[in-house]
This record gives sequence, structure tokens and C-alpha cells, in this order.
Amino acid sequence: MRPLALSRPGVDRAAHHRLDEAWLAAAWSHPSTRVLVVSGGQVLVEDTADGRTELVLVPPFDAPVSENHRYFLGTDEGGTHYFALQQDSLPGRMDAAARPAGLREVGGQLSERDAGLMVHAVALENWQRMHRFCSRCGARTTIVAAGHVRRCPDCAAEHYPRTDPAVIMLVTDGQDRALLGRQMHWPAGRFSTLAGFVEPGESIEQAVVREVAEEAGVEVAEVSYVASQPWPFPSSLMLGFMARAGSDTIQVDGEEIHEARWFSRDDLRQGIEAGDILPPSGISIAARLIELWYGKPLPGAPRQAAQPV
Ligand SMILES: [Zn+2]
Repeated sequence: MRPLALSRPGVDRAAHHRLDEAWLAAAWSHPSTRVLVVSGGQVLVEDTADGRTELVLVPPFDAPVSENHRYFLGTDEGGTHYFALQQDSLPGRMDAAARPAGLREVGGQLSERDAGLMVHAVALENWQRMHRFCSRCGARTTIVAAGHVRRCPDCAAEHYPRTDPAVIMLVTDGQDRALLGRQMHWPAGRFSTLAGFVEPGESIEQAVVREVAEEAGVEVAEVSYVASQPWPFPSSLMLGFMARAGSDTIQVDGEEIHEARWFSRDDLRQGIEAGDILPPSGISIAARLIELWYGKPLPGAPRQAAQPV
């Protein structure tokens, strides 16, 4: 399977430094340190002359100072430290080449380092924005551990970044056809793998079986794990599976899934080539699971698409 766009290693997170205020202050003031400003899930990127897309990383003295919203992202092999700075808006740039972009748009075009930094920064920002108050007592919490913990000053509770596990699965039948479904609000022709959130008290394998039964009425007999992908829209972790159906009878729920079909490889290829079937976006694990079954990149499917899943 080709690498997943948002599952890149990035830099060493060096989590042992997060509580060391003196170390963090020294790292922040070091001239080689670079800062990624993040606002509402967007950052500034630039397109290079040779066709790549890079994050706009600025030295700390160029970055707007806001101690409270400074997140330490890690250190690379050369010793450069990286921070994210959460702002209400992205700074204006003299450089006309810089433009604001979100992960769905550029996540597939960035280098491993840049993709890892951006996913980390956006995931932390999403969590910080939505967890400003203590879930135990309701008091406003403060940011500690370089952006990776929120602490309640009233009841001393510590709150950690939240990640919501979701399962996403390519189900095949006895004829090795793939089960793909359509959600009601998707554009005409869009078909993708089934997916859903893991419920409390449930294993991820149980979630695969339940979701396929609920959404498509298909009984799953075998489940095998493939790979995972952070999906910070706002806080999911997609756990990808291949699953084998016990029967090929389909009965969609009509709510989450409007329509579902078994596709042979020829069905899918012909549908895509004719423009009747739109496969999922290039950066999503859904596209990779379908490719894994198909055996190669899908025909006519953009390798790094900007459209939403
Ligand atoms: Zn509290």
C-alpha cells in the first residue's frame, strides 16, 4: 500500500521536554527554531519552483508571541526545534507566494516532515479550541505541557488531547467484489468504503462487524487490520481494515448509507472511466484500502486530490 498522506512520521516529538519550562524557553529563543502559525485548521504554505508545496516556517522572532498558545511539536535530526503557534488569524505575508491551506488540500503534497508537523499542530489546535473548560467542574482550564495537557485550576483535573477512534473497512464477498456505499449528502456518483465510530466498551473488530451490519445489512465473517491514519477533522483516528463478508445480501440503513453495491474490479474501472463513479479523495485511507483490493492505483483517479472525502 502506498504511504498514507497524513500518517507521516514528521519529527521526533521529544515529549520528555514538554514539562521543562527552562528547556522550552531556550528552545523557543534559539535562532534555528522554526514556528508554524496555525489558525482554524489552516497554515501558510508556499509552492516551490520545482512543483513542491512547503509549510511557511518562521523564526520565533518573526512569529507573533503568545505564550499560552505555543505548542512544542518536536526536534528534527539536525537539532531544529519546531513549535506551533495558535492564532486567531494567520499573519499577513509580504511574500505573495504564501497562501493559506488546510490539511485536506495540501496534506498529500507536503514532505514527510511538513505533513507530520501540520497534522500534529492542527490536531492540537482542534482539541484546544473545543476543550477550554474542565469537563469535571466547568472551570476554565489552562494550557500546560507545551500544549499537550489542559489543567483545571479549581479541581486539579488534568485533561489530555482527545482522539476518537473510527473504523473504516473494505468488505469483500466470496467473488472478491468490494462493498462500497454512498451517503445521502455526497455528490452524485461518489462511492466509498463504509466507516463509523467505535462505541464505548467495544473492540475495534466488533465495531467493524457492527457498522457493516448497521449500514449495509451485511454480515462480516473475518476482519483484519491494515493501517491507521490520523484524521483531525476534528479529532478522529481512522483504523483501516479489510473484512470478508459471510453473505452478499445488502440491506442499507437508508440513513447513513443511502445506497451500497458490490463492485468487481471491472465494474469499478468502467464506472470511473465513464465518469459514473467518483472514488474517494487521494489523501484518505478509504482510497488506499480500495487500491489495496484493486491491486494498483485506480484509473483516472487523481493521485493527490484536493476534494473532500
Ligand atoms: Zn475542574
